[in-house]
Amino acid sequence: MTTRMIRPVDEGLVRLADPSRWNWTTAAACGGEDIDLFFGADGERQPEREEREQYAKEICADCPIRTECLDYAISVPEKYGIWGGLNEEERDGERRRRMRHVNRESAKEQPKPAAKPKPKVARIDSTGTQRRLRALAVIGHGPNMIAARMTVGSKSMLGSLRDHRVRTVLPEVARQVADLYPILLETEPGPLSTQVIATACRHGWRGPEAWEGVDIDDPNAAPREVSVSETRQGQEAIEQARRLLAAAGISDVDIVAGQPAA
Ligand code: SF4
Repeated sequence: MTTRMIRPVDEGLVRLADPSRWNWTTAAACGGEDIDLFFGADGERQPEREEREQYAKEICADCPIRTECLDYAISVPEKYGIWGGLNEEERDGERRRRMRHVNRESAKEQPKPAAKPKPKVARIDSTGTQRRLRALAVIGHGPNMIAARMTVGSKSMLGSLRDHRVRTVLPEVARQVADLYPILLETEPGPLSTQVIATACRHGWRGPEAWEGVDIDDPNAAPREVSVSETRQGQEAIEQARRLLAAAGISDVDIVAGQPAA
């Protein structure tokens, strides 16, 4: 801002006039320009103001001390006129933008509060949970459906447990799976059961019948050998065969899976 524009009427303008502190003003591109070009006359109308400001801004655009001028006007802050190529409203916006930037930067430097350590819960062996999840898969209950009935755990966590990528489990997850197990054995599986059963078959997982009378949570316990006719799928297949044979007029046929009818 040219010193010609500086009138000792407020603190900022007086300080700007001090050449020992504001010697950058000697390089101002607006030196020699009409003061009204930068401040406007009283009673100026909007179209005239826009035209005047545009012209003043063009002078500022080539000014070698534009940055210093704008910094000064924002720091004071100067309320009127064109300073550093910006009018009053534009400087207000720039001031707010700078404050946001400063706040963001200082927020980054603030030490983050230490995360509250979670109470450590001892995990337990996942053998029984995994066996139950696999047995449920054999009859069509997948992790999705099981997780939906639990208050802890998630579909992906149960999937990992079932596929044995996790050897331990939280006690509460194990307890809820164990509680759900007998309920789901008596529950029709969901619409994706075919896919779940296909996965179980592909892996050769043991169904619920294999764990009847066996301590399913004992890692040393082995599943029972179960004939196909003992499984739910085997019994359904036998029932279907019976219906077909009955429809064909054949009855009382001893159907045993794996053996041809006599
Ligand atoms: S930036 Fe504009 S108002 Fe500021 S000193 Fe330069 S010409 Fe003058």
